Amino acid sequence: MNKISKKLAAYFIISFLVLESVLMMYLHQNIVHTRVDEEYSRLLASGSNHRNVLIDYYSDETITHIVLMEIEGDRGVVITGKSGEIIRSSDTKLENLLPSLEFLQDSANQNDRIIKQDWKDSPYIISAHPYKIDENNSGYVLMFQSSEPIERLVQKLNFHFGLAGGAIIVILFVIYTILSKFLTRPLIRMKEATEKLSEGKFDVSLPIGGNDELGELSIAIRKLANDLEKMKKERNEFLASISHELSTPLTYLIGYLKVAMRHDLTEEERNSYLMIIAEESNRMKDLVKNLMDLAKMDERAFVVTKENTSSEKFAKDIYRLVEPSFALKNVNLNLICKDDFSIHADPVRLEQVVLNLLDNALKYSNENTTVRFEISKVQNQTVISIADEGIGIPEEQIDMIFEKLFRVEKSRSRTFGGSGLGLAIVKELVEAHGGSIEVKSEFGKGSRFTIKI
Ligand code: ADP
Repeated sequence: MNKISKKLAAYFIISFLVLESVLMMYLHQNIVHTRVDEEYSRLLASGSNHRNVLIDYYSDETITHIVLMEIEGDRGVVITGKSGEIIRSSDTKLENLLPSLEFLQDSANQNDRIIKQDWKDSPYIISAHPYKIDENNSGYVLMFQSSEPIERLVQKLNFHFGLAGGAIIVILFVIYTILSKFLTRPLIRMKEATEKLSEGKFDVSLPIGGNDELGELSIAIRKLANDLEKMKKERNEFLASISHELSTPLTYLIGYLKVAMRHDLTEEERNSYLMIIAEESNRMKDLVKNLMDLAKMDERAFVVTKENTSSEKFAKDIYRLVEPSFALKNVNLNLICKDDFSIHADPVRLEQVVLNLLDNALKYSNENTTVRFEISKVQNQTVISIADEGIGIPEEQIDMIFEKLFRVEKSRSRTFGGSGLGLAIVKELVEAHGGSIEVKSEFGKGSRFTIKI
């Protein structure tokens, strides 16, 4: 048996038994009290009946008649006289159980009453009924009811209650078995599934549960398994891409180094090879730096310190910085910043984002085209858009350009430089600001990147 079903059974059975015991005790006491009260009323009714007959027809014959009526069965009667002497009794052994005359008179107002009601400890319950015919003829009709029938009833009740209690425990056990099967089996399967996940086996098969919490848990575990599998695949692909990214320039480096070391080279030739080596080394340095930046972003190990910056100043500073490179390639950079408003963002990170996008726009634009760099405020949001008339992105690849190390065509990196990490970094930075980035592009016609912060 497993622990959870044991716990469940213990809680369930204990609470049910406590409830059942309280209810049964209440019912038991109620039945006994009702029965005892009935006995009291019957005894009082018979006693007062005999007393009334005695008052109405007081004679020796009447007394004999009353005694005869109670001679059989569980009841008995004793009739006493003025000084407490016994006039007649239905059973001589009752005479020893008589209370003293002082007790009868002392505690009496002269009403009919039960004078001994302790049926548990005494063999009889007793009622007293005073009568008075005249000064000389008075006394008590004392009625006796044997406690035995009540005790028999209690014994019977105990037996039946015990039987019912036993039956309830058996039923509880059956319910527990069914419950534990239906409730704990899915839990155990989910535990086994998570254990499999922790061992790196992602092919968990969990039944589609109902609409309850267990069903939701089962869905969550299956989703976790899929996500983990996807992450593992992505990590392997990423590692493969990185190795490739690093091994290609390294192969070039080694090749050019070997060539540069040859003795038969002129100074000029050696220098040109060394220039290539320096360029490739720088590319590798940039790649590693970008990878480290991304790793930090993935762990959220960088802070975004938002502050208010003037939109005009922000845009013009960037324009001044990049315009010479655009002019060099003969690409027109158009800055559109109609109003000056305040941007609430981390200026250093936001500048990194915009520079990255402008760098791409320039990289993928042909000569004599225009790049529009627009900054505006729409519904309390800063909107920055960078649109170029460059080579564009094929439609089916647009969704992938924000993935790490993704490039539309591997050959593009050789032609244009770049490592496929720029947009992944941009996306992380924009999302760290709580903002969003979207792209619209037409292959061969141009692309527009829009950031909303
Ligand atoms: P890279 O450093 O290679 O430019 P990015 O992550 O910045 O890497 O971009 C990923 C890919 O998206 C690029 O390789 C390029 O093919 C494509 N891309 C990005 N920006 C543009 C653009 N403005 N025009 C056309 N293609 C673009």
